[in-house]
Amino acid sequence: MRGWSELAERVGGTTRTSEKTSLLAGYLAQLPSAELRPAAVFLTGRPFSESDQRALGLGWAAIAAAVTHLAGTTAGALSEAYDRSSDLGMAVADLLAHRPDEPDPSHSPGIAEVAEAFSVIEAASGAAAKGAVFAELLARCDALTAKYVVKVLTGELRIGLREGLLEAAIAGAFERPQAAVQWAGMLIGDVGETAILAKEGRLEEARLRLFHPIKFMLASPAEDAAEIVSRLGPTVWVEDKYDGIRAQLHRRGFEARLFSRDLHDISDQFPEIVEAARGLPWDGVLDGEILAYADGHVLPFLTLQGRLGRKDPTAETRANVPVVYVAFDLLAVGPRSEGLTRSEGHDGPSGPAIEPLLRVPLVERRRRLEALGLPALAEGGRFALSHLVTADSAEALDRVFDEARARRNEGLMVKDPQSGYSPGRRGLGWLKMKKALATLDCVVVGVEVGHGKRHGVLSDYTFAVRDEITGRHVTIGKAYTGLTDAEIAEMTAWFEAHTIRQLGRYRAVEPTVVVEVAFDVIQRSTRHQSGFALRFPRIVRLRPDKTAAEIDTLQTVERLHRELQFGAEYLVTAAARRPVRP
Ligand code: AMP
Repeated sequence: MRGWSELAERVGGTTRTSEKTSLLAGYLAQLPSAELRPAAVFLTGRPFSESDQRALGLGWAAIAAAVTHLAGTTAGALSEAYDRSSDLGMAVADLLAHRPDEPDPSHSPGIAEVAEAFSVIEAASGAAAKGAVFAELLARCDALTAKYVVKVLTGELRIGLREGLLEAAIAGAFERPQAAVQWAGMLIGDVGETAILAKEGRLEEARLRLFHPIKFMLASPAEDAAEIVSRLGPTVWVEDKYDGIRAQLHRRGFEARLFSRDLHDISDQFPEIVEAARGLPWDGVLDGEILAYADGHVLPFLTLQGRLGRKDPTAETRANVPVVYVAFDLLAVGPRSEGLTRSEGHDGPSGPAIEPLLRVPLVERRRRLEALGLPALAEGGRFALSHLVTADSAEALDRVFDEARARRNEGLMVKDPQSGYSPGRRGLGWLKMKKALATLDCVVVGVEVGHGKRHGVLSDYTFAVRDEITGRHVTIGKAYTGLTDAEIAEMTAWFEAHTIRQLGRYRAVEPTVVVEVAFDVIQRSTRHQSGFALRFPRIVRLRPDKTAAEIDTLQTVERLHRELQFGAEYLVTAAARRPVRP
């Protein structure tokens, strides 16, 4: 592990990509297989490969206890060292470097031994047992090795190494095409194994393995329709953006499992989906969203949230928060399995070949997904197909957006029909469009000078809505303006001239200027006079076309808040409608 640590130190010491790659390639090329596997995995800054769901479960306290004991110092000394770098590995090395009996670097444990120790720590039960194994490992490490052991086990390597760079290094080390390394990595999700296949010239043997999750493709945010159309071209594919939780479904024969975005098996949180999946007449891997859905309505995320993280939900929970799986992608598909016997259905990786579709364009993946015959969401059933339409202008996109919102979805996912599925990448193949929930027209009642580059101008606005009953303005939030510098300067002069009262930094101003405010959620709050607060308020624009008489009212805010509470209300009424004994 000392050699690995020296390499990491050198890779971290250069900012030049080509130098990082050649350092890594040279190092990996000379490692024996038993060391190559963990060495490659550790270079991702993880003790176990990404597809390995194990976690060490070793906390700061256990690490601190072992380090301070070895260094003969206190936890306070470790905290001080940590404050200097905000890097636990470096702090540990700082303390251990002053040990009179620091082990000779040539006696530090090998990479395979460190990997073995990580497995033992993971398997040990209880903090004390885990801590003891770790202390024993650390005692054998010189300061530099200890630094990197701690960096790997805390997942904070910080040597400027991206996944693509590591793939390039593996390709370089064993003289293989980088695309082949990348493809194998996508399929098996274990860089250690990929490195071994590259070393042994067997990259083409990499197979997608069912029940080993594939990293999820990610979406990039897009501000508005015009931007989307300009990025993706005149005709785009548009799907509803469902507000649930992302899940990858693997199924073969009688076995089905669900994996979350962080690649954990969440099957036992949604047994009804898993049970229904067993009855599907095909094998494969779906990408989709688990949604709370009942009586023909998508329920808000809030409703689903109550079920998250809970294994084996009770019958009551299952009845109160019914879930559906909306599929939007097909990542792999195999022969139909209707004819399989139960035992054949369990044969896992050795079963009939599954065809990976990751490099196939979305247009073809969607065609194959539709061929599986899932119904639309409104038709009922545990599985549904995502709502997809095409749009060829910014106006069309805006219209589709409103329709998606009317179906109670979060917004839109705009997809490039020619894009492949890029596991773990956030490209332009998928753009998410989740405009603020709604906007409110408010009147500015107070202003303050801003911070940073806005310190000389009045750029923080407190705004209010009108209470229809009393006719008074009641404050609902405060936000920095999203206005241009020129607008801010102009408004500063106006507000200075129309200040009613100065209270320290705060100026109460004439309630005349109308602004449009976007936000994510309305919450009850005692912070503002209205009794509500907006989450993530943003001032979208000035509304000189509107007078203070036209601003939104407290009653509108109450209605919006009620609609957002639909999920919570649904829970109450559902419980009343469907009394289910646990
Ligand atoms: P965000 O979580 O805001 O970054 O948006 C990306 C997430 O939207 C994905 O990870 C999915 O969980 C979710 N999503 C909802 N509907 C879709 C869809 N039709 N296609 C892809 N992702 C979707």
